Amino acid sequence: MTIKAVTRAAILLCAAVVMPAALAVATPQIKTQSPGYYRIMVGNAEITALYDGSSTFPLTLFKNATPDQLQRYVKDVDGDAPKVVNGSVNSFLVNTGEHLILIDTGGGKLLGPGFGQVTANLRASGYAPEQVDMILLTHMHGDHIGGLVTADGQPAYPNATVWAAKPEVDYWLSASQAAKAPQAQQTGFQRARDILTPFKDAGKLKTFTAGKDLLPGLQPIALAGHTPGHTGFVLEQGGQRILFWGDIVHYSALQFAHPQLAVGFDADGAQAVKTRAGLLKLMAHQRTLIAGAHITFPGIGYVVENGQQGYRWTPIGYGEIR
Ligand SMILES: [Zn+2]
Repeated sequence: MTIKAVTRAAILLCAAVVMPAALAVATPQIKTQSPGYYRIMVGNAEITALYDGSSTFPLTLFKNATPDQLQRYVKDVDGDAPKVVNGSVNSFLVNTGEHLILIDTGGGKLLGPGFGQVTANLRASGYAPEQVDMILLTHMHGDHIGGLVTADGQPAYPNATVWAAKPEVDYWLSASQAAKAPQAQQTGFQRARDILTPFKDAGKLKTFTAGKDLLPGLQPIALAGHTPGHTGFVLEQGGQRILFWGDIVHYSALQFAHPQLAVGFDADGAQAVKTRAGLLKLMAHQRTLIAGAHITFPGIGYVVENGQQGYRWTPIGYGEIR
């Protein structure tokens, strides 16, 4: 650049900075987020991730490590060591061409402000709740079943039948299991009973058997530990595969590198760790596409082996529908 050109650039820069007051218009900030949906194709099936909401939760939720270890683990990944971590809740809509299937429903009104956005995002994505004919539950915690009903307790998806694993239904709807459970879990049992009993009474709660196709190319697989009937759903279409794995990972920065970390609300922490460790290994080996309920939205990506540090998460990027 010549001296003359540099001077000219400097003049242009000054002109840009010192604008006449009359031209400077204060533009209001928009302060709304883009609609919370994200879409991909898996073979012939159209998958739409639906955002329900996000919040923070304490690091102390994680078990099998000291507070210092947990802080170090987070720092290894995030470069910072906060005492709280961010968690999101995602649901997934699958259009097979014959069925419109919602996998988990978000928290509805159960989780408080910032949650309960699945139905609005489903509409924003171009569908109507009335078009959903099947709802598959990975398990019956409030952040997965709360969105089954509207604020006034009516079915949010009036034409849908709800499906869950038999061990999950047997556990959460059993008065004797509830009576045996610790005080901290009583709210969970009550919520499951309140929300699901009307579906059961109306013949709209059905059970599936893990390992048997529910539809051609759609198979539930048992991933017990987090809850007794915690289930993943494998969808295989046109030679492509995706696993909707529910709550196998609650926080990416910790549980990929350290699968041994259980969470406070695991029904059976030891079993949950075993299930996660085995599944991460298999998914990394198979390079299966994953859709996770609590991985940062849209929660779709791959598990990759990471040498001595267990595994890491590689999210898919934004792109056109192909
Ligand atoms: Zn969950």
